Amino acid sequence: MTTAAGQSIELPGPRRSPAPFLVSGTVCGRSVAKAVHSPADVLEEILHWCDRDPNATGNWQVSSDYSEPITLIARLKAGLARETRRIVHLFRLLPGVPLGHTLTARCGEALPIADTEWLAVGTGMPCESCLGLAARDYVVSRAGYARRP
Ligand SMILES: [Zn+2]
Repeated sequence: MTTAAGQSIELPGPRRSPAPFLVSGTVCGRSVAKAVHSPADVLEEILHWCDRDPNATGNWQVSSDYSEPITLIARLKAGLARETRRIVHLFRLLPGVPLGHTLTARCGEALPIADTEWLAVGTGMPCESCLGLAARDYVVSRAGYARRP
């Protein structure tokens, strides 16, 4: 946009947050890395690499320069377990820590990322153990909730 004085200004618009996840590996003997927005994108990228090179390798992490841990919410995909086992777990991922083909929830449950359904907050039956452990991250005071330092 241009002002009446002819100066160019930037209007605020929809901005997409920076991609917090970094997937890296080796494809056809060359090192590759890509920033992506979700664990589903991580899996898609690694599968794409494996299509190009059956010997491709890949791993992922929350980018080491990301400002704080990320909590993901997930459960097993439908059809892989009885519905009573498809409770929703919390996964706390620390920046810069390499991750593999499984993620371990706060409660200790391990889910393969290929078999995981990623969810939004408030979806599904929560895992009480995960919720209890996550609650320890917060301090309650008269001012409200605050993340424990
Ligand atoms: Zn859990």
